[in-house]
Amino acid sequence: MGNLVAIVGRPNVGKSTLFNRLIQTRQAIVDETSGTTRDRQYGKTEWGGLEFSVVDTGGWVVNSDDIFEEEINKQVKIAIQEADVILFVVDVMNGVTDLDLGVAHILRRAKGKPVILVTNKADNFNVHPLSAEFYSLGLGDPINISAINGAGTGDLLDLVISKFTKKDDQVFDTYEDTIPRIAVVGRPNAGKSSFVNALIDEERNIVTDIAGTTRDSVYTRFDKFNMDFYLVDTAGIRKKGKVTEDLEYYSVIRSIKAIENSDVCVLMLDATQGIESQDLNIFSIIQKNRKGLVVCVNKWDLVENKEQIVVKTFENTIRERLAPFTDFPIVFASASTKQRILKVLEMAKEVYTHKKVRIPTHKLNEVMLPIIERTPPPSNKGKYVKIKYITQLPNTQVPTFVFFCNLPQWIKDPYKRFLENRIREHWNLSGTQINIIIREK
Ligand code: GDP
Ligand code: GDP
Repeated sequence: MGNLVAIVGRPNVGKSTLFNRLIQTRQAIVDETSGTTRDRQYGKTEWGGLEFSVVDTGGWVVNSDDIFEEEINKQVKIAIQEADVILFVVDVMNGVTDLDLGVAHILRRAKGKPVILVTNKADNFNVHPLSAEFYSLGLGDPINISAINGAGTGDLLDLVISKFTKKDDQVFDTYEDTIPRIAVVGRPNAGKSSFVNALIDEERNIVTDIAGTTRDSVYTRFDKFNMDFYLVDTAGIRKKGKVTEDLEYYSVIRSIKAIENSDVCVLMLDATQGIESQDLNIFSIIQKNRKGLVVCVNKWDLVENKEQIVVKTFENTIRERLAPFTDFPIVFASASTKQRILKVLEMAKEVYTHKKVRIPTHKLNEVMLPIIERTPPPSNKGKYVKIKYITQLPNTQVPTFVFFCNLPQWIKDPYKRFLENRIREHWNLSGTQINIIIREK
């Protein structure tokens, strides 16, 4: 259950440079396996053994000099609402500007929310005294850093994690971790709240109450008729956000927690709209967190032509946009008519079991070694790469397979994809990422 660090500030102070620096080490690893580098605004990182996510709230805003003050203010408000720690970045070389004052004003009123004032572009010690001017913002000691050369960022990270109140493995509510936690996410008007309401209705009709609902609880338990699961952040979905529903990109930031708190995400699309950059941003957050995925094409009742060919085209378009990850269920549903809403849940539960699949070592080897024999990794400089043995690692977030071989460095991504695809052909792992690791033996 991660902490979320938000970077705020006016344009050109170095927010995105800082963002990149903070997530730099971890990013390479995550992106290599998930194949997504789509957004530059959200990433996961780790410091002092604590994993947390970083969001550059400015990154979703058009980042130009003539950005409206109002827009920056909204960016700051959403950060206050969603983040656990806020990094307020200013430009030490530039001195205090009116926009800085405006942001500081809002942040000072965010009682109890840890705010760190970061004086960036302090590329060398000579300029450090300039930061004194920023005491006037009333946000405590300015922390000098240089996002560009990295100076001071280690100290900054120490300070950041010291402000976390949630420990890494601490959850918001108690929940049983053998039961899937399902988050319904998507952009505004896709039909998330209609879907959740329809479910709750359905549940009431079938029988009984929903266990353990408190008004703002993160998890709502459903446990009737073979539908035992938690819906994540139901309250947050059903009562619309107080601020900034008008700005679509904020819905992305608002999805972060729900995604992080889930096992499987239902990505809600609107059948009458195409799949757009916002959907991709949300998808990317799901990927970076290695959560299971079910795509729900909602408002299917509004689509008149439901011939097989139309359905196929829909499916293909979605898979193309989300490639290289393409092995996930797509359900065409309608929150209004309730068509297939239970199917969506069934698929989500299935994806959850796929995430937890354990393939016995002997089965893996029985199936995969002959395939590898027929199509071995390409030889390199006259040397043959020989895969000897395959096993699945226990207790990983997503199924993780280790291939032991003599020359691991020569097995490249295309062959890893080949291995992944063969595994997916033989075992149903729809909706979950899998991880292929090559090790020397
Ligand atoms: P943002 O608009 O706040 O996201 O700012 P950017 O990260 O895009 O940075 C704006 C400009 O400041 C770019 O030209 C960066 O290269 C530069 N910049 C960012 N951090 C530093 C720094 O620590 N030192 C110096 N000298 N320049 C920086
Ligand atoms: P949210 O912002 O994702 O929570 O979306 P809402 O649930 O508020 O739905 C947005 C609009 O789409 C509302 O006017 C809903 O009545 C409508 N809507 C939601 N689901 C469906 C559906 O399956 N079919 C139709 N025709 N309309 C829907």
